[in-house]
Formats: sequence, C-alpha cells, structure tokens
Amino acid sequence: MERICVAVRVRPPVSSELYNGAYWKVDDNRISLHKLHGTPSSALSYTFDHVFEENCANARVYELLTKDIIHAAVEGFNGTAFAYGQTSSGKTFTMNGSENDPGIIHRAVKDIFSQIQAISDREFLIRVSYMEIYNEDINDLFAVENQKLQIHESLERGIFVAGLREEIVNNAEEVLKLIESGEVNRHFGETNMNVRSSRSHTIFRMVIESKEKDTNSSGDYSSSDAIRVSVLNLVDLAGSERIAKTGAGGVRLKEGKHINKSLMVLGNVINKLSDGAKHRGHIPYRDSKLTRILQPALGGNAKTSIICTIAPEEVHIEETKGTLQFASRAK
Ligand code: ADP
Ligand code: MG
Repeated sequence: MERICVAVRVRPPVSSELYNGAYWKVDDNRISLHKLHGTPSSALSYTFDHVFEENCANARVYELLTKDIIHAAVEGFNGTAFAYGQTSSGKTFTMNGSENDPGIIHRAVKDIFSQIQAISDREFLIRVSYMEIYNEDINDLFAVENQKLQIHESLERGIFVAGLREEIVNNAEEVLKLIESGEVNRHFGETNMNVRSSRSHTIFRMVIESKEKDTNSSGDYSSSDAIRVSVLNLVDLAGSERIAKTGAGGVRLKEGKHINKSLMVLGNVINKLSDGAKHRGHIPYRDSKLTRILQPALGGNAKTSIICTIAPEEVHIEETKGTLQFASRAK
C-alpha cells in the first residue's frame, strides 16, 4: 500500500474587512495557530507532507503533490488527487486555477500528453469523463441528459458508472475544451452557481490505456505487461462546512446531510487505508457513492494525494481546525 500524501494550503485573505492578522503560521511543513485574542498559541500545531503558504502558486502545488501521481498513471498505476476544505477556501482554485496560474487538472492534462509523446514504444488511448455527485445523484457533466446514473460492477469492467459519457481524446487542447463545456453543464439551470458547486463533488477522470507497439510482424506480444489500463481521478470535493453553518432547513439541510455523510465516509476510508496493515479489516467503500466510484483508484497500489485548503480569516478558525483534523486523520 502506498502512503497517502497529505498537504495543507492556506489561501490568501480575500477580503481585508474580515482579515485582522495572521492566525495560522506556516513553518516549512508545519502549521500552527499562533495567536488567538492576543494570547500566545496553545498546542495547536500540525505537520504534513507539505504546507503551502498563501503565496504559493499552483505550479508548485502540482510539482510537489500531483506530478508523481500523473507520471505513475502513465505507467499504469491508478491515482486520485483530492481537494478538501470548506467553501471559499480554494479547492476550485487549486483544481481549476486561474488564467494566470492554471490549476492541477490543466497541468495534469498537459503533462500526460507530453509524457506519452515521449514514449516511443507504446501506443496510447486516452478517454476522459467528468461527473458530479449532487445529493447522492451522479450526473454527467459532458452530457446534461445523463442524470442520476447508476454504479454497476462487472467482471470485465470492474466498478463503473453506467451510461457516463467517455470521450476519446488526442491532445490536451481537446480535453481542456471538453472541460470548459462541462463547466457550463455543471451550472445548467442553477440560479446560484456557487451554491451548487459548493454542494457537489466533481470528478474529472482520465483513463489511460496503452499497449506495446507491434515490433514484430507476427503481432504477438512477448510481454505479459503488453496492455496497461490506469484510471486517474481529480476530485473537487463539496464544501466541508458543518450543516449548522449552512443554516436553513429543507433542501439545504438534505444537501448538507449528504455532503457530511459522504465526506465522513471518505475520511473513514482514507483513515483505514492510511493505517495500512494494522487494520486489514473492512474498508467502507460502499457507504457512499463517492468512495464507491473511487474505490479502484484508492488503496491497493494506487497513488493518492489530498490537498486540504484553508481560509486564513479568524471567522473561519473553527472550520479550519476541522479541516486540519481531517487532514491529520488521513496521514
Ligand atoms: P472553493 O472552491 O473551496 O469554494 P475557491 O477556489 O472558489 O474556493 O476560492 C475562493 C476565492 O478565493 C476565489 O475567488 C479564488 O480565486 C480565491 N483563491 C483561492 N485560493 C487562492 C490562492 N491560493 N491564490 C489566490 N486566490 C485564491
Ligand atoms: Mg469550489
């Protein structure tokens, strides 16, 4: 079992009104709560594989946290990279980036195509899909008509989402265009985009299949490693804030419960996996659609990384502590 790589990223303050000084202090790969109401810090201090301070660019996050997963995916290993955190802490900024600083998905797509171009003895077939899990419903972001899709399992295909559109792609530009169209679908019919996006998990998936090029005319493969298939998931999770804060009842409350449950299941699954051989027992993948879909690319020899994004403002301290606790359990 590969160890799960866990990082924390502090976003810059977005509004000066809310920001009254740095509460979280970053020292190398340690983060601590260093002042609260003028008193020196208590014992709240955590270390992770990486802690990225507010000026850190997506390029560096990609380099340290995701690049290895992407390279392994090209070589046939499954992988998953998550962004976890409360709404407005920088998950989407990390995954999708900005015009000046493309995010992890953009960089991964480019990197994969440049990698495979450099491999001369294998042929590659790349397929991509993009889905959203909203209130435990799986919706296709490449095809708005594909709603409430079901998870199936078969011998040949393993676990899969039935009816999910997969596009065969030949270059990075094609993929990035598809993602853009998917973003439009994600917001289809919504009056408030932010509300929807903060309450759904999105999974961008690339399936990388490769085989040795026919070197001898007989066409038979000498190596048992002739065909490789790997799955790479890049996941922007729903906001991790607690239900109470999101207020209201009805729809909002129902959404909140689904989110809390699936993030809790994810935490449990990751916690079991990171405990490794100590607890070889039952891993509760089946307890949520998110973990069920990701199961083949979580655990085993799959490579996993989690970036936990936090907001620096004092009003967010309680949520931030919650995020750091989630991150600590994943180590
Ligand atoms: P989330 O997806 O977690 O709800 P966003 O990624 O939408 O949060 O971030 C909230 C706001 O903060 C956005 O305006 C985003 O551009 C900005 N932001 C987040 N992280 C960073 C960062 N590391 N550097 C600069 N701006 C950021
Ligand atoms: Mg977001």
